[in-house]
Formats: sequence, C-alpha cells, structure tokens
Amino acid sequence: MSYPTRSTRSLLSIDDLSNSQVIHLIERAQQFKKNEIQAIRPAKPLIVGMVFFEASTRTRFSFEVAAHRLLLHPVVFVVDKATSVDKGESLHETLNTLLAMRPDLLVVRHAGNIRLEEIMRKSSIPVVNAGSGVEEHPTQSLLDAMTVQERLGQIEGQRILYVGDVEHSRVAKSGAKLFQKLGAQVAVCSPKDLAVRDSNVQQFNTLSEALKWCTVCIGLRIQKERHSQATNLSQGQYIENFRLDNKNLAALSSSAIIMHPGPFVPDVDLSDEVLSDSRCAIHEQVTNGVYMRMAIMGDLLGLSYT
Ligand code: ASP
Repeated sequence: MSYPTRSTRSLLSIDDLSNSQVIHLIERAQQFKKNEIQAIRPAKPLIVGMVFFEASTRTRFSFEVAAHRLLLHPVVFVVDKATSVDKGESLHETLNTLLAMRPDLLVVRHAGNIRLEEIMRKSSIPVVNAGSGVEEHPTQSLLDAMTVQERLGQIEGQRILYVGDVEHSRVAKSGAKLFQKLGAQVAVCSPKDLAVRDSNVQQFNTLSEALKWCTVCIGLRIQKERHSQATNLSQGQYIENFRLDNKNLAALSSSAIIMHPGPFVPDVDLSDEVLSDSRCAIHEQVTNGVYMRMAIMGDLLGLSYT
C-alpha cells in the first residue's frame, strides 16, 4: 500500500488515506479477526517504539497487543518520573532521541505540540499518529468505520451522529472526515459551549431530534483536559440533555448502533446500563482496535502473511 501525500510511509491524518486504502485496511483487519492470515516472522527483529506523551488505556494496550500478534517487538515510552522529561528535557528532543535509535516504526500520542508534529512529518521512519491534540485520531476512526461496516453491513448511506464535546474531540474530527469520504452523512449534537466551530456538518439542537435522524450514535467524553478556557457548562444539564442512558436513548431506532471511543465517565457521558443494550458496540470497537492496528502496522512495515 502506498501513502501518496508524503515521502515516507506514515499515517498521521485521515487525509493520508485514499478510499481504496481505507477499504483495504478494513478488509485486512477483518482477515486478521477471522484468523484467515498470520504474520510471517520477519528475517530481522522489527522494533516498534510506542511513545505516549499523553494518557491512554485502550490505544496503547491495543497497539502493544497488535504488535505482539504481528511478531514485532514493541518498546514503550511513557512520560514518568523515571524519564529525562522529569529532568527538564523537552518533548521534541525526547522524540528526536528516540528516533535516533532507529526503531522500525514509531507510534506517537501527544496533546497537540507543533514541534512534535513537524518531527513526525519529516521522519524517515514511518510514524503512526495515536492521537494528536484536538485534531486527529486516524486509527480510532478506522476502527470505528470497521465496526460500522461489521454491524450495519455498509458505511455508505449511514447517518453518523457525534454527541457531546465535539469541539475538543479528535475522534469526531477524524471520524467526520473518514465517514464523509466513505459516503456517510455526519451530524453533531452538543451543548453550545462545546459545539464545533466552522463545521461543515449538520448540527442538531436536541438529542431526541438527532437520535431520530441517525443510524450510528457515537458518544463523547467531556474532554476537560483539552479545554483552553473554562466553560459555563453545568454537569447537571449536560447529564439531563446529552448523557447516553436508557431514558435519553429512547428516541434511537432499534436498528441503530451506539458507539463511544472510550474512556467514558460513568453517569456523566454514558451510563453503564447502555453496555448491555443490544445496540451497543463499544466493546466490539475495542476488539476491532487490535485488528485495525495490526493492519496498519503490517502495511507500513511491509509484512508478509501466510
Ligand atoms: N480516547 C479518545 C482520545 O484519545 C477519546 C477521549 O480521550 O475521550 O481522544
């Protein structure tokens, strides 16, 4: 698979992928899931550096699981007291240092840092964006697309709704681009304070109206750590009007599906009761995350399969 928009093979943005590349990745991930193909051990050990400058549970763990399933060697770097970041080293020098050790692939998550972005863009080693600031989370939207394809049989023609803190959601931003590229319609429903600015997607004012429209409802966490200024948002009103729970989801069709990238804050953006709703695909998203990340890393490293 070739990545036409940059000199090295990297996946930094959904814009790096053509439709046929997306379809190929979904098919490849499904082949892994059905156990139809297995990675062949590469002639030399391939090292995947996993660099997490920001907190993560499922993205980090699934990249690690995926790397092991591909017979790769993941080496994880997380910022903590035992690293030179604690001694005052900058994040960009940290990233340059890790790249200078010449891993075969780098997976990087950061909170939105231009110098890191520049290094990732210029790297001769392939880099996968595992979430950057409020802008991009391409691997999440690919696994979301895979989940929609599996549950509903096709992506084209679906009506995808993002609910909640859209403004600070890299999941919604990458997802909106990807789903539109694949022929789905995208809309959002969020409190005024958290609405996305300059959006080219439809905006709904009330959740019940939005839920009647959609075939896929994707909840979002209130991503406080990404807010640049305090909001007037009242948690009580948010719960009343935007939380995904049995009461608020009453307007959603029985054939629609419910997703959430996680983590969710119980009883604020989603209630535990939703997990046992037959329309809920949240844990399937997590499972698919491993297979999608296998597909992405396998392609970028040019692995062979039996
Ligand atoms: N896990 C997702 C992300 O990294 C969503 C979230 O943090 O709420 O953006």
